[in-house]
Amino acid sequence: MNMIQDTLEHLKFSNCGTDGTFFQAVKEVLESISPLIESDKKYQEHSIIKRLVVPDRQIQFKVSWLDDNNQIQVNNGYRVQFNNALGPYKGGLRFHPSVNSGILKFLGFEQILKNSLTGLPMGGAKGGSDFDPKGKSDTEVMKFCRSFMMELHKYIGSRIDVPAGDIGVGAREIGYLYGTYKQITSSYDGVLTGKPFFFGGSLMRPEATGYGVVYFAKEMLELEHKKSLAGQICTVSGSGNVAIYTIEKLKHLGAIPVTCSDSKGYIYDKRGVDVELLKEIKFEKRLSLEVYLETYKSAVYVKVEDYEEDTHGVWSIPCYAAFPCATQNELTLNDAKNLVANGVEIVTEGANMPTTPEATLILQKEGVLFAPAKAANAGGVAVSSFEMSQNASMQRWSFEKVDLKLQETMKQISKKIVLTAKDYGVERNYVHGANIAGFKKVADAMIAEGI
Ligand code: NDP
Repeated sequence: MNMIQDTLEHLKFSNCGTDGTFFQAVKEVLESISPLIESDKKYQEHSIIKRLVVPDRQIQFKVSWLDDNNQIQVNNGYRVQFNNALGPYKGGLRFHPSVNSGILKFLGFEQILKNSLTGLPMGGAKGGSDFDPKGKSDTEVMKFCRSFMMELHKYIGSRIDVPAGDIGVGAREIGYLYGTYKQITSSYDGVLTGKPFFFGGSLMRPEATGYGVVYFAKEMLELEHKKSLAGQICTVSGSGNVAIYTIEKLKHLGAIPVTCSDSKGYIYDKRGVDVELLKEIKFEKRLSLEVYLETYKSAVYVKVEDYEEDTHGVWSIPCYAAFPCATQNELTLNDAKNLVANGVEIVTEGANMPTTPEATLILQKEGVLFAPAKAANAGGVAVSSFEMSQNASMQRWSFEKVDLKLQETMKQISKKIVLTAKDYGVERNYVHGANIAGFKKVADAMIAEGI
């Protein structure tokens, strides 16, 4: 049995089980790097795979806080520091009721390879809590964040571990977390990224992941000599940070993004989604998407209960380019079949692992250009790294400078994964290209750094 199967067998019997997202992510990566492992024995000799799939450390802590009725609430807090071979641990915090240590291990593991692909000095980590900010007052969110940081601050630092946002953690939460960190430590250092601009954030960090996703799709279409996005119908899922700025950049490029969704349903507006209204509904008022219809009566709203069985709403709308930007496993086999039947040319993952393995296979088999998350959504963490540079040098970069550097980074990543796929005999398979290129850099650093 080779090292890859050996490791997967071992994981089956370890505490992660085989049905979770962590096993799913590890299996995809290990199977796709086999051309590299077979061609260069040093990775087996140094047991790199066995070492890479185990986090350096996992921290779990209790978060007690007082709600607005003066009742004590208790949540779980986590930080998974996975690998720091290339730089300080780096990865977001997710606040969502579905958060558990398995999901965070999956996200942390993916983050190692994503951060490696950017070419910037960052290791991989992820953290968060099963706390749900939805429906909580600002005071409750602040109290929760204070209590979370009382524990987390012991494990982070600008050269140790630099968390950022993710689902449920936006500028408001980062502000409260950073404020608490400063109160505890009296230190104004760049220990969190995604900070609001006026106290240390980078211009363009809010837009970075979504804009990067679109820049990446644009590059991949060019490299594959396909039609550009201008004038094309696009479908987008989600209506959070990544989805909204994906929609915004698509519009900048002259594309027509016709959908968005949240956990309750989706909007189909065939004239193109009004992104300013979407920002107002989601960022300012934090309401359900249904209220979009109050302004645009001709748009269609479909509730989750009315989705066809085993499908996820937006993927039934015909499009040239699809952008899953909500959450993991939201584009399944039937969704992929619908997209193919409707003539989709490219699927670019904005969320982390939104496409199931079966759906990915169908898309690839049918010749759809498939751009995997760890390459396509790396723009967010790249600009986080630019925020760290600005904080360390006490400088502020212009929007144009950050945007240019983001575009360069996305271009570099797209070229790297296309070339790597070619070099290892898996041409046009960009899942393999991204995994091999990301893995190789981390693995070589681990070998150079010793056990
Ligand atoms: P947000 O919290 O801003 O938005 C998440 C969106 O997804 C919301 O529209 C939410 O709907 C929807 N959603 C969440 N869970 C579910 C679910 N189980 N079923 C259906 N819809 C769901 O998160 P982000 O936009 O920041 O993150 C989205 C994805 O992108 C995640 O996979 C994240 O890991 C990834 N990502 C984010 C980065 C960033 O910079 N923010 C960087 C790289 C990756 P509702 O409003 O109803 O909750």
